[in-house]
Amino acid sequence: MTTTINTTAGRLPVEQLGRTLIHEHVTVAYPGWYLDNRRPKFQRQEAMARVVDAFKRLNSYGVRTVVDPCPMDLGRDVEFCAEVAQRTGVNLVCTTGVYNEAQGIPFLFQHLPIEAITEIYVKEIEDGIGYSGIKAGAIKVATGDGKVSDYERKVLTAAARAAKITGVPLISHTENCSCGHDQVDIVTGEGVPSHQLLVGHSDGRDDHDYQRSIAERGAYVGFDRFGLEIFQPDAVRMKNLKQLVDAGHRDRVMVSHDTVHCFAGGIPFMNGGDYEDLLKIVPNWRMVYLFEKIFPQLREMGMKEEDLNHIVVDNPQRFFAEAREERVK
Ligand SMILES: [Zn+2]
Repeated sequence: MTTTINTTAGRLPVEQLGRTLIHEHVTVAYPGWYLDNRRPKFQRQEAMARVVDAFKRLNSYGVRTVVDPCPMDLGRDVEFCAEVAQRTGVNLVCTTGVYNEAQGIPFLFQHLPIEAITEIYVKEIEDGIGYSGIKAGAIKVATGDGKVSDYERKVLTAAARAAKITGVPLISHTENCSCGHDQVDIVTGEGVPSHQLLVGHSDGRDDHDYQRSIAERGAYVGFDRFGLEIFQPDAVRMKNLKQLVDAGHRDRVMVSHDTVHCFAGGIPFMNGGDYEDLLKIVPNWRMVYLFEKIFPQLREMGMKEEDLNHIVVDNPQRFFAEAREERVK
């Protein structure tokens, strides 16, 4: 039987994922963003045109699928995503799950028991998000800097249980390359295999030992912030990625940019400025950057075309397919 996954346009056979960017955002907004009444009104049409344009540019690089692991409390807009997919032909996968304690909306979820949170996540995957009919295809999990809080442990546990029931993968956010191993511990502690977890933002420090230790445990290692050089020079990311591949972990690497196409409020490094202002600070933070600038440099560093294809095609496909196989029947 063909393995299929949830996209904004319904179920898609995993073989049709094609070249995939595993971590890019269409919209992001911190909880309460709409309370900042100094901000101009969100111009949906204008934003849509801009996002559609960015997604259309992916076609020339053969990117067929984009995963937007936006947590439910961070300005997720699945109907906006569905329209982008419909207008561009690029498959979009949305996620359920909540963000970390410091930056998300913990109060409500702090009062819900693990069982209730699991149920919410399962419903978003199996029945749909809100009344949109759009089903989540993965679960976002997140931890803070240096330590997993009790709240984060609870929602991560709920996420692992929901992943087990539904057979979707978990895509994480980490801060400063910390807590990756805690995430693996919590997920595997719930009986979910480590290959069902992508430890995101593992490229934030020049730390091959950390990256390799995550891969050795069988989880995926996210080199998913290419172009975001305010956190880490891409030269370091490329060096670390090559090291990990040379160490035999080509199967465990995922690449992306963590781009954000529509912001609303409160992003500290942009002070509420618009998208063009942001691009002045991080000019390479675009979804085509890997293909235009990073892959050519990796080839020069000795990576083969086959390695690069393996990373952007085979790894995402296996990530979703193997998660689906683990689904509780
Ligand atoms: Zn992200």
